[in-house]
Amino acid sequence: MEEKKGFDNKNPQQKPKMPGNLPNNKNRYWIYIILLGVFLIFTFIDFGGSSKEITREKFENDLLINRDVEKVIIVNKERVDVYIKPDKLADEKFSDISSGGALGFAGSTGPHYHLAIGDVETFERQFKEAQQGFPPEEQIMTQYKTEHNYYGEILSWVLPIALLFGLWFFIFKKMSGGGAGGNQIFNIGKSKAQVFDKEKKVKINFNDVAGLYEAKVEIMEIVDFLKNPSKYTKLGGQIPKGALLVGPPGTGKTLLAKAVAGEADVPFFSLSGSDFVEMFVGVGASRVRDLFKQAKSKSPCIIFIDEIDAIGRARGKNANFGSNDERESTLNQLLTEMDGFDTNSGVILLAATNRADILDKALMRAGRFDRQIHLELPDIVEREAIFKVHTRNLKMSNEIVIGFLAKQTPGFSGADIANVCNEAALIAARKSKKSIEKQDFLDAVDRIVGGLERKTKIISAQEKRTIAFHEAGHATVSWLLEHANPLLKVTIIPRGRALGAAWYLPEERSITTKEQLLDEMCSALGGRASEETVFGSVSTGALNDLEKVTKQAIAMVSFFGMSEKVGTLSYYDSTGQNEYGFTKPYSEKTAELIDNEIKSIVENQYNRAKKVLNDNKAKLTELAETLLVKEVIFSDDLERIFGKRPWSKEEDEEDNTKPNTEENDQQNDD
Ligand code: ATP
Repeated sequence: MEEKKGFDNKNPQQKPKMPGNLPNNKNRYWIYIILLGVFLIFTFIDFGGSSKEITREKFENDLLINRDVEKVIIVNKERVDVYIKPDKLADEKFSDISSGGALGFAGSTGPHYHLAIGDVETFERQFKEAQQGFPPEEQIMTQYKTEHNYYGEILSWVLPIALLFGLWFFIFKKMSGGGAGGNQIFNIGKSKAQVFDKEKKVKINFNDVAGLYEAKVEIMEIVDFLKNPSKYTKLGGQIPKGALLVGPPGTGKTLLAKAVAGEADVPFFSLSGSDFVEMFVGVGASRVRDLFKQAKSKSPCIIFIDEIDAIGRARGKNANFGSNDERESTLNQLLTEMDGFDTNSGVILLAATNRADILDKALMRAGRFDRQIHLELPDIVEREAIFKVHTRNLKMSNEIVIGFLAKQTPGFSGADIANVCNEAALIAARKSKKSIEKQDFLDAVDRIVGGLERKTKIISAQEKRTIAFHEAGHATVSWLLEHANPLLKVTIIPRGRALGAAWYLPEERSITTKEQLLDEMCSALGGRASEETVFGSVSTGALNDLEKVTKQAIAMVSFFGMSEKVGTLSYYDSTGQNEYGFTKPYSEKTAELIDNEIKSIVENQYNRAKKVLNDNKAKLTELAETLLVKEVIFSDDLERIFGKRPWSKEEDEEDNTKPNTEENDQQNDD
């Protein structure tokens, strides 16, 4: 969803700005800097009470001998403080200490001097020796004192704790989204759902969702459940607890949920599966609990969880490998909560995913998600309706017929169509047109299917020839095989990463036969076969084709049971449990057999493509030469060279087809 994630403005946990509060963070930082400065000054500069350091020689030979010393105190067994007799302080030689000095020396109180000592006993002995010969009344006895530096001691344990707290605070603030206020720390276990209610309405309604007729009926019923529950409950029925929207990306799942929010007139909690996920253990489960608590307090209401696969993925069987405990405990909490609220509590859970197959079975059972609403890619009628929605605000020339646009975009999702409309407007604007024309839409479609045209890309004449024959090879084989997809357009203008491309209109079918698969593989190999037939050598340009064909062959042999030698077996794992597994469900011998079968299927189709091209070499050359001259050719040109396709279907049957590109991968770039 496009709206900003996080708490809405009504969040009571956000502190209102008090008049006395500091105006902004910048000023607050100044305070921290000043405090730090004061702290440093107090730590490193010792005001008052400081004495001057003297050497041992000066102490003995100058002060002691002259009877200047009043007393000597050994502090903490490491320092000797020397006090000068008050009457002597007036002497010239003590002028620097008696006045107090710039740094505030001791003045008359002392200590006036200090010296560091290594060992107390040695000092005592030497001190005694130095006083030998002094009359007894002038002998000075050393005194002892222990000083406590409370300030330093407190600091030495307070500082590390403060630092730890600071770090902890900082990390939590970052983790919990870094939003305003230190309260974020305590909100980490709170649900991150965005709440739409009377004050904050979603502006989308069912009129903005084109097509999806069946899905709309189902989902409208859910809205009706909430508005008039008694209509259903008085007959003894129970209101469903949840509905799961399943479908390929961009088919309008989120849009449909937004429309429900716009129509339902009940509070709507919207969040994404990944909003539950956090680095800390237990946060996901706590967020689930909080979400349901909030929802129950606002019932009747709807909770919408987008991309539920982020938490709803099937729980692993192997506890040590590939499983994620935090995600599993979040899922467990979700399952418990969904069981916990009773049917008529008025909370309905909507969720969307593109991968229902990997969701946990427990989540999918009736009683949790009672309904599964499947959204498919739109057919021609739905595409037309979607075009109508997205061209509402566009300035288009009158020549454009929406039905024509729908015909040109088989296989496009709603999101693709929205993109085409926007792209067409941008293309027209770039050309400074007053309105969007048909050609702009066609360019937009090409751009979305193939990427940006790169006419300026430098390609040598020989490379261009190779690309032309490669694409002509695809076009020829697909034209001449019964089950291959009919061709729409071939181009050798570089586009996106491809140096050339062929556009097809494959039939949209629910099941594909072996013959159809083989013909498609043969036409995909037509490019490489053409290079070999004409030039006697091959290039790296067929990477995409080879990858696709190999995958198809693997699927035929190991998933669809289409190989006689391997047999009608399928090693496909629809549970997704085996994703992390290293073990194969078949023996080494079978693995070898599968490899051989895959190889032989691809080889057979490659030889078949070469035969077709050899048999029609003159026509292939003519097509490639035309392509070199025109750069773009359409099915009309093929019809002119090869004649009409005997199997070509009626015009209107082509409508349910989707485009596919055979790309000459950009390997010979340099
Ligand atoms: P994903 O699974 O990737 O999240 P989604 O199915 O949730 O995809 P949406 O986000 O609902 O797809 O659709 C993306 C955009 O496509 C929408 O914002 C809307 O502009 C457009 N769109 C998709 N389907 C329709 C439709 N039936 N009618 C009008 N617009 C549509």
